[in-house]
Amino acid sequence: MATKTLEARFEHLTVHDENEAPTGSMLKSKAACQGTIASLPSNPSRPNLVKYALQASNESRQNAAQITTITTTTTVPTLPPSPVRKAVASLRTTEDKDNNDSAHQHVSSLNFFDQPQAPKQFHLGMFEIGKPLGKGKFGRVYLARERSSGYVCALKVLHKSELQQGKVEKQVRREIEIQSNLRHPNILRLFGHFHDSKRIFLILEFAGKGELYKHLRKENRFPEWKAAQYIAQMAAALKYLHKKHVMHRDIKPENILLGIHGEIKVSDFGWSVHAPNNRRQTMCGTLDYLPPEMLKPGSSDNFYTEKVDLWSLGVLTYEFLVGEAPFEDTPIMTQRRIARGDMTVPSFVSTEAKDLIHRLLVLDPEKRIPLDDVLRHPWIVKHCVTKGGERGSQRASGSKGSSSEQ
Ligand code: AMP
Repeated sequence: MATKTLEARFEHLTVHDENEAPTGSMLKSKAACQGTIASLPSNPSRPNLVKYALQASNESRQNAAQITTITTTTTVPTLPPSPVRKAVASLRTTEDKDNNDSAHQHVSSLNFFDQPQAPKQFHLGMFEIGKPLGKGKFGRVYLARERSSGYVCALKVLHKSELQQGKVEKQVRREIEIQSNLRHPNILRLFGHFHDSKRIFLILEFAGKGELYKHLRKENRFPEWKAAQYIAQMAAALKYLHKKHVMHRDIKPENILLGIHGEIKVSDFGWSVHAPNNRRQTMCGTLDYLPPEMLKPGSSDNFYTEKVDLWSLGVLTYEFLVGEAPFEDTPIMTQRRIARGDMTVPSFVSTEAKDLIHRLLVLDPEKRIPLDDVLRHPWIVKHCVTKGGERGSQRASGSKGSSSEQ
């Protein structure tokens, strides 16, 4: 099958046009609107995770409130069934269909913020604030609903003073600039932003199934079919980013959210760079996922390109399948092992998956398998395309389908 078609299908695995409201979870909280929501308990971050840069850390990841499945409908105008919706519908399990059909019949192919009548200027009064979804290093994220349309989104609240203290204003500005220009079903949308004297508010697409990282910890490791479907979606997202000359540079499970159907939503563009000249020299990211070419500060050959994301995709594939990162060790040893490409894939991992990992974790960036070939790789094709050339019917979030091995 042609790569383009395959990739297009991956993209359609996700639903861009849905906005499903959670049942009864919105609080018409005046206090919340005034920014006085009580502090949330925080969770320990993943063990052994060495942070390479302060800004990229998500130390106090907290239990994101799980959103109940959606039975309510939105007030967004109804459109006739679109090919996207049809494609998505064919991917849904019976159980999902039972739960979500009413919502699906009432969604628009355009989300509220993209509609012509959507306001260009936003302010806090336009939103009902719901339950807290999580807490990052510099802000909290709340479920929110745009009042006039009922459109459900996530509102990230950043305190200007904290950003100043952390010296991350520039990083946040960059994150906003980059993310608001991205439109891909596997990349978390940033619909808009506004601010008051003390805070900056980011209006984000709501990722109903929360952090991928938490799912991985809960399941310990993913079965191969699920890992393959996630990696295919990651490859599609990265291909889109690289085409736009954006390198993410901080690909890791903590920076990936899941949509309501379990589809990948790449988030956290705090470290991403728009690099039309394709060459950057800054150090950033998390040690476990750091590519060898970024480990050489000060040396003359520490240039790197968007191929850093290919290395991280290899680390991600390994971690999905094994449950831990390939170079996890003491900080010094991790660096040494990355520099040598010193890792072994356990025997329970299939030959095809091993092959892809070995083709991604290549020391020479130029020799890493390109994203088009990732999407054509036998391991991906096996788990993402059925005999008839159609996409597999199981979604990464759903129960195991027909694919055989674990
Ligand atoms: P962050 O500050 O971006 O790291 O977000 C903190 C936490 O809030 C994340 O770890 C998620 O659990 C949650 N969160 C952030 N953005 C969203 C979103 N768009 N949808 C759902 N949950 C989110």
